[in-house]
Amino acid sequence: MLYQSTRGAAPKVSFTRLLRAGLAPDGGLYIPCQIPDVRSELAHWRNLHYVDLAYAIISLFVDDLAPQTLRRLIEESYATFDHPAVTPLVPVGDLFVLELFHGPTLAFKDVALQFLGRMLEELLREQPTELNLIVATSGDTGSAAIHGMRGRRGMRIIVMHPQGRVSEVQERQMTTVLDDNVHNLAVQGTFDDCQRIVKTLLADPAIKQRFNLSTVNSINWGRIVAQIVYYFYATFRVQEQTGAKQVRFSVPTGNFGDVFAGFMAHQMGLPIERLIVATNENDVLTRYFNQGEYRATAVVPTLSPAMDIQVASNFERYLYYLAQGDSHMVTTWMEGFAHQGVIKPSWAPLPLFAARRGDRAATLTTIRQVWEQEQYLLDPHSALGVYAANDFITPQIPTIVLATAHPAKFAPVIQEALGSDRAHHASLEKLAHLPTRLTLMPNRAETLIAHLRQITEGAV
Ligand SMILES: *Cc1c(COP(=O)(O)O)cnc(C)c1O
Repeated sequence: MLYQSTRGAAPKVSFTRLLRAGLAPDGGLYIPCQIPDVRSELAHWRNLHYVDLAYAIISLFVDDLAPQTLRRLIEESYATFDHPAVTPLVPVGDLFVLELFHGPTLAFKDVALQFLGRMLEELLREQPTELNLIVATSGDTGSAAIHGMRGRRGMRIIVMHPQGRVSEVQERQMTTVLDDNVHNLAVQGTFDDCQRIVKTLLADPAIKQRFNLSTVNSINWGRIVAQIVYYFYATFRVQEQTGAKQVRFSVPTGNFGDVFAGFMAHQMGLPIERLIVATNENDVLTRYFNQGEYRATAVVPTLSPAMDIQVASNFERYLYYLAQGDSHMVTTWMEGFAHQGVIKPSWAPLPLFAARRGDRAATLTTIRQVWEQEQYLLDPHSALGVYAANDFITPQIPTIVLATAHPAKFAPVIQEALGSDRAHHASLEKLAHLPTRLTLMPNRAETLIAHLRQITEGAV
């Protein structure tokens, strides 16, 4: 399997090459040159356990690593989850909830980052110099990346978060990790400032080479491929329980990575009738799917911070398929977006997708109603998935909502919704007593460069 760039101007590469590169050199995102058709495998796959299913699916996309090595890395990745099903499916009222938060940091990002960390360690074994992974985070990505990379040979992970703007639990999940290869920087600025600093460094070829830089955010195809698995897993479980032919998914969405994995599953032949894109007040994607125009506005803070995004990086992959593989069209759209902040394709949005926006009141009401009616506790992101799904409930086609975080990660929101303190998790309570390490950093790209110099010269 080879991969090409959405912008069509970069050489084709293998899986292990793209994993290290992240972004393609022409500024595009990697996508597979052809999508495997797996319809004849479905009958056999539905009997597999999560790890066997993950191996069956991921191995279709990875052909430059020894099969037994890939198999071992997948086994090790999902052994870190605290549930035997890895991603258990729970019936909640008229819906099914797929719990993706049983990994080490209690957010769905562990599904991909536990795997990516192990894959990278394997690939970097022969490399003489360490790979420096720089990551900007508004909370969940940073902790999942740190827990995926901590203690691994051949790499360092340097995470920047906006000082004082991530939740206390999220900060402790990052700063209590004291491994030598983990560096936490609190930037005196916003999340956008952190992201800008990462992009500034990665866009400078001399700096990128000098410090051997890369990143592990969801532009990396290695993350998408691991997320395709649970769409299959959930569909099989729901089909067993209901006998339904087709299913529908509702996906709390920020960077469009998770829901794009669902699109890939559909393209491979999984009978998905509809993918519902659930957004918060930062509704650029909802406006696009309902009105056909993609126009970014200013980000507003919400109760679901992991979805506070107005430039959904994986949307470029969607555009490639909308344009039926016309890379020139994609390049024109993306360049237009860089200058005018808007894309208005002449094609209508793909009808597989629907979208709904939920606000603060919808988040709090949904958490309260689902708790009162079903005694099931949703985190604020997953609550928006349920809220969006409620518009689509039909008896023939079951709807599966992806639950992207454990409610205890957002305990103050649960407290506000229910008026009582109900969201707990033992692994988070332990963090309160652990020592932390954190470096404050002014909001300037040069400071990160200076810091990298110190780290790579062994002074920190
Ligand atoms: C990252 C995240 C999302 C958004 O996922 P995307 O792949 O960026 O669309 C939703 N919910 C939670 C809890 C997250 O951490």
